[in-house]
Amino acid sequence: MTSTIDPKSIGKPSRPRRHVRTLTGYLPEVDESGKEKWPRGEEKVWKEAMRNLDNDVPSIERSVVNHVQTSLARQAYNLDDTGAYQAAALSVRDNLILNWNETQLLYTKKSPKRAYYLSLEFLMGRTLDNALLNLGLKDQYNESVKHLGFSMEDILEQERDAALGNGGLGRLAACYLDSSASQELPVWGYGLRYQYGIFQQLISPEGQQLEAPDPWLQNQNPWELPRLDVTYEIRFYGNAERLQDGSGRAAWHGGQEVLAVAYDVMIPGCYTKNTNNLRLWESKPKRGFDLNSFNAGDYERAVESSNSAAAITSVLYPNDHTTFGKELRLKQQYFWTAASLQDILRRFKNTGKTITDFPDFVSIQLNDTHPTLAIPELMRILIDEEEVQWDMAWHIVTRTFFYTNHTVLPEALEKWPVPLMEHLLPRHMQIIYDINMIFLQAVEKKYPGDRDRLGRMSLIEEGFPKQVRMAFLACIGSRKVNGVAELHSELVRTTILKDFVEFEGISKFGNVTNGITPRRWLDQCNPELSALISKTLKLEKSVWLKDLYKLKDLLPYADDAEFRKQWVAVKQHNKERLARHVKTTLGFEVNTNAMFDVQIKRLHEYKRQNLNIFGVIHRYLTIKNMAPEERKKLNPRVVFFAGKAAPGYWIAKLTIRLIVNVARVINADPDTKDYLSLYFLPDYSVSLAEVLIPASDISQHISTAGTEASGTSNMKFCLNGGLLVGTVDGANIEIAEEVGETNVFFFGHLAPAVEELRYQHVYHPVPIEEKCPALANVLNQVSSGVFGDGGVYEPLLNTIRQGDYYLLSDDFDSYIAALDMVDKAYLDKTEWVKKSIRTTANMGKFSSDRAINEYAESYWNLESVKVPN
Ligand SMILES: *Cc1c(COP(=O)(O)O)cnc(C)c1O
Repeated sequence: MTSTIDPKSIGKPSRPRRHVRTLTGYLPEVDESGKEKWPRGEEKVWKEAMRNLDNDVPSIERSVVNHVQTSLARQAYNLDDTGAYQAAALSVRDNLILNWNETQLLYTKKSPKRAYYLSLEFLMGRTLDNALLNLGLKDQYNESVKHLGFSMEDILEQERDAALGNGGLGRLAACYLDSSASQELPVWGYGLRYQYGIFQQLISPEGQQLEAPDPWLQNQNPWELPRLDVTYEIRFYGNAERLQDGSGRAAWHGGQEVLAVAYDVMIPGCYTKNTNNLRLWESKPKRGFDLNSFNAGDYERAVESSNSAAAITSVLYPNDHTTFGKELRLKQQYFWTAASLQDILRRFKNTGKTITDFPDFVSIQLNDTHPTLAIPELMRILIDEEEVQWDMAWHIVTRTFFYTNHTVLPEALEKWPVPLMEHLLPRHMQIIYDINMIFLQAVEKKYPGDRDRLGRMSLIEEGFPKQVRMAFLACIGSRKVNGVAELHSELVRTTILKDFVEFEGISKFGNVTNGITPRRWLDQCNPELSALISKTLKLEKSVWLKDLYKLKDLLPYADDAEFRKQWVAVKQHNKERLARHVKTTLGFEVNTNAMFDVQIKRLHEYKRQNLNIFGVIHRYLTIKNMAPEERKKLNPRVVFFAGKAAPGYWIAKLTIRLIVNVARVINADPDTKDYLSLYFLPDYSVSLAEVLIPASDISQHISTAGTEASGTSNMKFCLNGGLLVGTVDGANIEIAEEVGETNVFFFGHLAPAVEELRYQHVYHPVPIEEKCPALANVLNQVSSGVFGDGGVYEPLLNTIRQGDYYLLSDDFDSYIAALDMVDKAYLDKTEWVKKSIRTTANMGKFSSDRAINEYAESYWNLESVKVPN
């Protein structure tokens, strides 16, 4: 059969070149001697207009008032906090735009190697406070806003969180953007501009989680710049025909075409002019309507295509660590990777370099397997559009991409049904089959006759239907693969990618332990602690916030009684701030003399919020059985929970319901309420984390060993002087290495024991009454209705009575013992404060600056490009 396609017609239509000119009289003319001649002789005026805004207090006030009256079209005599926020944000944005322009101009001029961070999630939180810090304009704006009759604290509260992420993975991406800009690295982020971010969590009176949409774009978003002129066409469905000319090319045509439109979010570095870009794509119909249908009088059909195009970026999927195989999700992934690659290629081509140099100038980091389609998509572009031969194309691809694995949990490993892929992306399915065939031939050559191995390593999993294993595709299509903490990276090498390590060699498989940005997670969320550190170290925060190892110099002050007093006062103020927050949002009176014990993270069985709530019940029952005299010796404790459950994750939602109902009972019990209280704070977010973390005495990171890849909230708590109760898992291990095991409360079985314990649960189950009477008692109390209708919780209790996959019955006793150790340790206040100080002092390693520099040096081979001041 011969193809009917004319090979010359393949490829993108050439875009009409825009006619651009220089603003008349804006730039100086340079004469032969190199002397600048400014328009109309007004050098000073023009130079200042180009480069700088005046950032003294009166000029800032003028700028804010100017935005009130012009950009917002409002009157100076009728302004509310929201208006004041918007005007202040626009005024700050003016600074960001100038820095952003200068940075991008310099990058274009120097055309250095660039790196791109592809993440389906960016959990940014609020921007104004962060922008002010990074620009070094906090004090000036505070004062200006005060002069204008407003309070900065109230204004900051007006901003909605940008919550385009589920949890740790999305927040990591946000921290890495902050660090890339701060380290002056030419890095851009690419993501999707969801109309609706992570749902808003409401809790019903019965304790059920309800989900409401998060219309975060309802008010104007001053932090994004629409780039309506930066658009790309993206194709779905249709047919892919291999050309019969021996070229290996194919033509993909027909199907649906939609438009990707760019929105840019400026990412300021800390105390530098460098301002990077996060480019988010929005989907739009390519044609507003189909004229043929329209003429035929079928209006609904005519607007149909416009509906489905806009649907692609309408909502963030609210699942963390699970996959669902929904077609729209796959559409999101392709839409985003295809638009990003076209954009990256266009920018590369503008430098005039040849395509074989691509990997020397572009590195692309895949944040989990979500952007893996970028691998076959770049193959498609190189082969079908750039007419590169297969081997060369694969050589280019496998030196460009880098893959970060985020989990070894089986339910989180992405697989896509082959029939769905064939339907939605027919050309990519051909390419994946070709990659697989060539790959398996190489495996066969190295291990002749090992059919078992071929089956294990194939990109295609047999079954009904067959599925594409995205982690394997990401692995073989990348130059390097990394996990996110030492233990996790080792598990990646020895479990899910073991065969690939054997085949490709160990040097491809590395580790980059996660980090967090100390700008947001210390200076912004805990300004008093930041000020105390600067004062004590006699260092400007601009220094130690960018070199977090400097915190080590706090160590001697652990033995300084006066310093400890100040340290305690800061923690106390943060507890009071949290108590005020709880009072205004929920109406509860929190005991600020108690120990604050916090577990905040996505609800998941592997994170074991269940273990925590059963521990709380155990504690409640114990106190209840004490004589009143004995109770008086107890340390009061307040336990906080926050976190969202995926809307379809029934057991996780039941856990929330149990927590809320246990809280209802124990907070009202006159026998115990002075010693133990419990709060579930709804709608966990970055902004809520910023209030909770600085107030904690201890926080809980108690995943079944080997299941939490890293965790990053553990780092946030320790950086703020909170001690850690945790399992020997993820980054907990490395935190303990840094801060010292004596400052961490470890418990539970270790990762290597988990497999055998699970085997025992299945083949030699021991009744829970025998194995762990304390936990059995707790479960029975729940069953018997102490916390409301016990029947409701049976499915949750049964996950522990039967199978107990997450090993609660194995770890419960040592968990309770660890919490008793915490109580004992807290009695010695002086020693406790020393632990707290030493913990913060030893957290330097966990700055995301360290992590991003590891990626830049050991993975991307990327150098910084500083925008001169
Ligand atoms: C840091 C952070 C997370 C990650 O928390 P883990 O306890 O590491 O899972 C999730 N959500 C938000 C809002 C965060 O700030």
